[in-house]
Amino acid sequence: MMQNAGKVIIVPGYGMAASGAQHALKNMASVLSNKYHVNVKFAIHPVAGRMPGHMNVLLAEAKVDYTNVFGLDEINPDFETADVAYVIGANDITNPLAQTDKFSSLYGMPILEVFKAKTVFFVKRSLGSGYSGTPNPLFWADNTLMLYGDAKKVTEEITVKSRGVK
Ligand code: NDP
Repeated sequence: MMQNAGKVIIVPGYGMAASGAQHALKNMASVLSNKYHVNVKFAIHPVAGRMPGHMNVLLAEAKVDYTNVFGLDEINPDFETADVAYVIGANDITNPLAQTDKFSSLYGMPILEVFKAKTVFFVKRSLGSGYSGTPNPLFWADNTLMLYGDAKKVTEEITVKSRGVK
């Protein structure tokens, strides 16, 4: 699906850091853009991870081109024209209950609106919740595919398969 996509938006979260998946992610993005000419963007939520700037530091370490990295306000209008949102080890920062459920502890937090993408991949190990402990209804949405496993391992497997095909 990503090989045939026009636009893929990668959304990293705490699990990307826990797994150390940033280099694998950079490789996957390079294969998609160089080999398949996909427009690949990275979306950074201000509280993604466990400390301010957590994702930015890791993507910089992996030498992700910063012209492809966007903050929340800049990237949110892009999701509705994205073929795939590749959400890797992120959870709370995508949870639509933050917009709709005033009884949720997340209520009022701005989110990355990944649910607007044509297809949403969640790369994580289970249906478990994130830091806030809030279930994420997107895991059961019609346009969501769950890719269970460690963030780094799953991303490496996708990249190996993409390199081999076409
Ligand atoms: P979350 O904590 O919401 O979600 C992270 C997800 O990563 C989990 O649901 C977990 O699911 C998954 N995960 C963990 N390890 C792995 C792994 N090895 N491979 C794949 N997936 C993994 O993170 P977000 O970044 O989305 O949101 C950050 C949260 O942290 C927010 O609630 C924010 O308020 C809070 N916070 C942020 C701070 C900051 O300064 N950035 C400071 C303090 C709190 P599973 O177990 O199923 O794999």
